[in-house]
Amino acid sequence: MIEIHNVSKWYGSFQVLADCTTSVNKGEVVVVCGPSGSGKSTLIKTVNALEPFQKGEILVDGVSVNDPKTNLPRLRSRVGMVFQHFELFPHLSVTENLTLAQTKVLGRSTDEAKVRGLKMLDRVGLMAHKDKFPGQLSGGQQQRVAIARALSMDPIVMLFDEPTSALDPEMVGEVLDVMVQLANEGMTMMCVTHEMGFARKVSHRVIFMDQGRILEDCAKDDFFGQPEARTPRAKEFLSKIL
Ligand code: ADP
Ligand code: MG
Repeated sequence: MIEIHNVSKWYGSFQVLADCTTSVNKGEVVVVCGPSGSGKSTLIKTVNALEPFQKGEILVDGVSVNDPKTNLPRLRSRVGMVFQHFELFPHLSVTENLTLAQTKVLGRSTDEAKVRGLKMLDRVGLMAHKDKFPGQLSGGQQQRVAIARALSMDPIVMLFDEPTSALDPEMVGEVLDVMVQLANEGMTMMCVTHEMGFARKVSHRVIFMDQGRILEDCAKDDFFGQPEARTPRAKEFLSKIL
């Protein structure tokens, strides 16, 4: 579903991604972890072309992200993205947040978009809040709305960039629960997260990045079960977060 081939990116002379290669199969859940500044956000944003890159190629469901002929709005509409800060529109109600991109990007009628959006809102357990504004919801609820909004677009893959790291601790669980449910339903997911409980529970593979490089890309059981086989940087990182 996602193929990342030898991707490199520089900011001036600073190399933020160095020859990154990996892939995510249909139905696979891949967790990306690593120290702050290692390039995790940059890598995940290259997948839906929010970050351009100078070398390499990325294919999403066979469509090249960096081919100038690719219809980027269409591609992005198939790739759901959830950020650390929920980025809901504060002046729009929950329902309006859910329907806006569906009508503007997918050309759905307001009624159609509402049906789809509210179905997704129900799925994240927030139907009772459909007429509220984001500011009236807790951080955890806002993040669940952001997930419902992404799901309303019928994505073929979901990207998460530290979706729980801006939340108060007591709200982390409700967002992870939604992500676990999605994973169990077979959604293809690429998740930047340091929630190793989530990684152990539902991920298939773990990618570890450091200084723009993918240093580890292995099955979850190897990542957690065979620390002796890990690179020194990954071992050090794991010893701090586990
Ligand atoms: P992570 O998500 O792993 O914390 P990022 O992908 O956000 O890392 O950033 C990787 C590196 O790129 C960091 O050192 C960061 O300072 C640098 N960086 C990010 N955005 C820019 C930018 N627009 N210009 C220059 N450097 C940047
Ligand atoms: Mg980041």
